[in-house]
Amino acid sequence: MDFELTPEEKAFQKEVREFLDKECNENVIAETESMLGEGPYSKELIKKMGARNMLAPRWPEEYGGRGMGFMAETIKVHELTYHRGPFPLDGVEIGNTLLVCGTEEQKKKFLPGIARGEIEFALGYTEPNAGSDVASVQLRAVDNGDEFILNGQKIYNTEAHFSDYHWLLTRTDPTAEKKHRGLTMLMVDLKSPGITIRPLVTSAGLRTNEVFYEDVHVPKANMVGEKNGGWAVIMSALYGGMGGGSSGASRFHFETLTKYLLEEKPEIVADNPWIPDAMADIDIKLHLLDVMGFRASSMSDLGLSTPYDGPVSHVFANESRRDFCNVVMQILGPYGQLAEGSKWAPLRGVFLRQYMDSPRWTIVHGSSEIQRLVIATRGLGLPRK
Ligand SMILES: Cc1cc2nc3c(=O)[nH]c(=O)nc-3n(C[C@H](O)[C@H](O)[C@H](O)COP(=O)(O)OP(=O)(O)OC[C@H]3O[C@@H](n4cnc5c(N)ncnc54)[C@H](O)[C@@H]3O)c2cc1C
Repeated sequence: MDFELTPEEKAFQKEVREFLDKECNENVIAETESMLGEGPYSKELIKKMGARNMLAPRWPEEYGGRGMGFMAETIKVHELTYHRGPFPLDGVEIGNTLLVCGTEEQKKKFLPGIARGEIEFALGYTEPNAGSDVASVQLRAVDNGDEFILNGQKIYNTEAHFSDYHWLLTRTDPTAEKKHRGLTMLMVDLKSPGITIRPLVTSAGLRTNEVFYEDVHVPKANMVGEKNGGWAVIMSALYGGMGGGSSGASRFHFETLTKYLLEEKPEIVADNPWIPDAMADIDIKLHLLDVMGFRASSMSDLGLSTPYDGPVSHVFANESRRDFCNVVMQILGPYGQLAEGSKWAPLRGVFLRQYMDSPRWTIVHGSSEIQRLVIATRGLGLPRK
């Protein structure tokens, strides 16, 4: 087992780190912390990364990548989240699937633009009656010759208000014997007439959206995979080779908290002898998380990944993040509950937001329960409950 990055990966890590040290400035961080989505500063940063071929390092050079591996993708995610830059970049995630399932024409049309940071996608899976059970999607796409006509609703489509395209799971055959056989994946220009986007704001202040479709026309050229073959595309998107989880954001906040306790409030530690053990536990988890994340990426690069390497690291990353936020709130005590704006709020109230937002990570991209189901059934071969 070799835990060393290759010289090429090390050079990439250094390049991205140095770039973000300089370019991920206060304006970008403020946009990230606002949880309102990518604003002008984030978009500018993304374009600058795109101009340096940093956004999709795994893709072939002809599509704007560097021909590197999943390890490079994980390095990018770690650095971006550590620096509190815009994340996730769903366009790159979609591009990963297009590389496998898209036509040559689609790859040429979308991948270079995504890699340059000029095209962003929003994930359009969830509906009011289709979340974990995504095969229950009802948004209807009716075949109309060389186009589809769409009617229906999506919910919790977080990036829709600042993206260019919708990666949309639709129902093309409502009579299919098995519901997952009647689905089709489409890429929809979000400026198409008939689309309405309405904000939904979570208790943490994160903006997500409801998206309504009313007689929206979508060319068949934007269909990914086969008609009624959307399930294969979604499986590739969710469980194809993947980079592992990253400790980036948690590591940054952990370092901030450690500094705060050492330099500003040593009395908190002096008065609470349980805190050093709790901090050590977090540190252990963050180290483990990095090992798991890089292992999952390395397995993908070697072509050895199983459909459950990603879920294992995903569950651990997201639950560690939630546990970390819980411990931080205990350490900060009642003051930790004060929001930004109060002069008494520790560290500008940033941990309160992190805490309020932390359950999200155990829900999105497949909840922890669903990920455990995948680990148990696909990984361990156990029967479904
Ligand atoms: C802040 C936020 C942002 C999101 N962003 C996006 C986005 O950009 N695009 C998008 O398409 N979706 C997005 N989602 C939707 C997210 O993917 C779904 O919320 C998630 O898949 C769960 O679906 P649900 O909310 O309908 O819950 P349900 O599926 O109704 O599940 C409710 C609970 O039951 C559990 N459960 C369900 N089925 C099982 C089972 N078989 N076994 C055991 N437990 C089970 C779940 O784990 C969960 O705890 C977002 C959600 C949130 C909260």
